[in-house]
Amino acid sequence: MENRNSLHNYVNEMDQWLQQFNGVMEELENNPMAVMQSDSIAKLQGQFEKVMKDVNYYKDNPQALQVSLMNDLQQQASNLYQGYRAFMNQKPKKVHDKKQTDTKKNPVPIGGHKLPPLPYSYDALEPYIDREIMRLHHTKHHQSYVDNLNKAEKEMEKARRTNDFNLIKHWEREAAFNGAGHYLHTIFWDIMSPEGGGKPTGSLLKCIEKSFGSFDSFKKHFSEAAKQVEGVGWAILVWSPRSHRLEILQAEKHQNLTQWDVIPLLVLDVWEHAYYLQYKNEKNKYVDRWWNVVCWDSVAKRLEKAKQVMWQPF
Ligand code: MN
Repeated sequence: MENRNSLHNYVNEMDQWLQQFNGVMEELENNPMAVMQSDSIAKLQGQFEKVMKDVNYYKDNPQALQVSLMNDLQQQASNLYQGYRAFMNQKPKKVHDKKQTDTKKNPVPIGGHKLPPLPYSYDALEPYIDREIMRLHHTKHHQSYVDNLNKAEKEMEKARRTNDFNLIKHWEREAAFNGAGHYLHTIFWDIMSPEGGGKPTGSLLKCIEKSFGSFDSFKKHFSEAAKQVEGVGWAILVWSPRSHRLEILQAEKHQNLTQWDVIPLLVLDVWEHAYYLQYKNEKNKYVDRWWNVVCWDSVAKRLEKAKQVMWQPF
């Protein structure tokens, strides 16, 4: 039997994840499609309540915890997430339209960015990415980018209000670093999935082949760009509305070496906090194994949306 402590931690993490998933459930219920899809929503709601009840039970009765029960909880959480994903895929266009309306109605207020919920449990990407990495990465690192971006935005608002721009250079840097950090991590969680890996299909594959010759040469180029990031940073696949092609870029820290005017599609975090606990100095191994969790569906959706932006070519 695994030690009691780690089982207990597991339940607490599951509890955290469910609280985040609660926000996703609320969003689903407020969706206009919810009326027409009330059966699948009700089913998801039932699954959600069941796993929530189980987790609460084990929180109150830690002596009842067993490894097999944890596996059952994990399975329930995974079913829940798959149900959610199936729902979102069923009506992608309309769900998207509603989201756009919401975005127009509810812009993020100044200093009001929030940590997005992880769309799967912390251990969902194992064995490729450990639970502990995911937990620290999401709840500590990403959260701090959100907090510091909010702070920078509020300080810049204060500068405008008081007409005191003495520290503006500092807050602009903070806004760029933490803003890029927040946005990139938000994409990063979304372009990975426990059901990921393999190869893209359809127009994403065609676009990759057109831009890089073949999927293999794209993958090689992207991996090499990730492995050769100097210091900390990212590898990023972007759609360029100007050249009408895909490109691969590196980012040092979050914001350096960026081509403004491009839209990131696939991003790989190669900061040490993203792999060191599990892979130590073997960054290359992390990069090679990471492909097993890439969610090509999400990348394809981002490309479709991004391609609607096309500037006059020059
Ligand atoms: Mn990171």
